[in-house]
Amino acid sequence: MVALAPELQRNFAEILGPDGVLQDAAATAPYLTDWRKLYRGAAIAVLRPRNAAEVSKIVRLCAEHSIGIVPQGGNTGLVGGATPSAAGTEIVLSLARMNRIRAVDAENFTATVEAGAILQHVQEAAAAADRLFPLSLGAEGQCQIGGNISTNAGGIAVLRYGNMRELVLGLEVVLPSGEIWNGLRALRKDNTGYDLKQLFIGAEGTLGIVTAAVLKLFPKPVEKATAFVATPDPARALELLAACRAASGDNVTSFELLPRLAIDLALKHVPGSVDPLRTPSPWYLLIEMTATAPNAGLREALEKALEAALTNGLIADATIAESEAATRRLWHLREAVVEGQRLEGASIKHDIAVPVATVARFLEEAVREMIAAMPAVRPVPFGHLGDGNIHFNLMQPVGISGEAFLERGRALTTLVHDRVMALGGSISAEHGLGQLRRGEIARYKSATELALMRSLKAALDPRGIMNPGKVV
Ligand SMILES: Cc1cc2nc3c(=O)[nH]c(=O)nc-3n(C[C@H](O)[C@H](O)[C@H](O)COP(=O)(O)OP(=O)(O)OC[C@H]3O[C@@H](n4cnc5c(N)ncnc54)[C@H](O)[C@@H]3O)c2cc1C
Repeated sequence: MVALAPELQRNFAEILGPDGVLQDAAATAPYLTDWRKLYRGAAIAVLRPRNAAEVSKIVRLCAEHSIGIVPQGGNTGLVGGATPSAAGTEIVLSLARMNRIRAVDAENFTATVEAGAILQHVQEAAAAADRLFPLSLGAEGQCQIGGNISTNAGGIAVLRYGNMRELVLGLEVVLPSGEIWNGLRALRKDNTGYDLKQLFIGAEGTLGIVTAAVLKLFPKPVEKATAFVATPDPARALELLAACRAASGDNVTSFELLPRLAIDLALKHVPGSVDPLRTPSPWYLLIEMTATAPNAGLREALEKALEAALTNGLIADATIAESEAATRRLWHLREAVVEGQRLEGASIKHDIAVPVATVARFLEEAVREMIAAMPAVRPVPFGHLGDGNIHFNLMQPVGISGEAFLERGRALTTLVHDRVMALGGSISAEHGLGQLRRGEIARYKSATELALMRSLKAALDPRGIMNPGKVV
């Protein structure tokens, strides 16, 4: 921790109260590293405001002294966006104390929440009002709405409900000047000029600090059908996706792809993981359909689609969950797939998207290319097949140290991303650029697009104090 000039220290404490300014090493340590422990930073202080007015005062003070501000939510981001640089010249601004759910309006199908509200708490508040807030992801017990907005988070229900960008109606933002923009509108339609909220969604804290949001709610599903399916390859899995969408009245919520190795690692490392099928298969799918009307016939629709798929050779085996406990076991396995890889050793992660129709081609070509480049590498591509979003992870070969693999693996990342771009894809589907991918976008975005991004940044944040060194 860098010593804070006494005058600034007094100013921050006056604004936030003594418990709003953290400076000692033990208290600040969790804020200075990321979830994966890939990055370690330093900061002048960690500041914990209680409302937008306090955020505004801090930002004005930082602007005056040209101090960089790193906004931080639940700190579950996977690209180092919420970790300050090692220089120790920035402050971390934690939104954790701004966690109120201000209102749930069941009639308007909206919730107004502060940026620090934990995603799971927002889901629970919506459910208590007989509504659904559909964003759902592995870190939902810790990540915050402000972080979800700033990374334009995706997760396991994007196929049906869209990503965070599609779930936000209004925002309140503290701008880099310290001004508060109140755009907390609860409107479905508003064509009064530029849609400014879109600038801040997915901006990873580089254009301003999100302090509150109006979120879209939906009718709460009352029926659900979940299946675990063995499929020979992703091409046939995509045929099944189309069949399931049609059969269910487009009520497929999740369509997740898992390779055999991912299941093996989950079974090996994560207690409570159960292999749902006896037939070993190169690929599996976790499929979930939901409906908001009772007796919607989802189970029958799923059964019929799977029966036809068995006959047509799209799948080799399937099981439909018979109880809530069985459904939970399937989702436990899906989450254990992430944990299993972590416990197995080092992996190089890619969060890519390609057009849904080209996922199968991408996987076939990319896996072949990886094996050619490093024959012992263990690809574990898994994720949101229905969105064309694959977590194309490469697990360290047996018998090589994690460090040696990560060192050699840099070249593999360029191969993966070049292939993604050749198919019209994206090198970051849902995690953002942060520090991890910032250097790479120069290779993949056109000069025109980069210049546009930089001119937006310069217009909103001319002093460059918002999350320096991230995104652009
Ligand atoms: C186990 C696990 C599973 C995950 N699964 C998914 C998944 O399925 N889909 C997915 O999309 N992501 C996933 N993630 C990534 C992560 O959870 C999301 O990116 C999440 O949206 C980050 O929220 P956060 O509050 O933790 O943000 P942080 O990590 O704190 O911050 C992320 C970025 O947003 C900025 N930021 C945070 N709050 C604000 C604010 N109020 N105003 C302005 N900028 C802000 C930060 O500066 C940083 O750049 C997963 C992560 C883990 C650990």
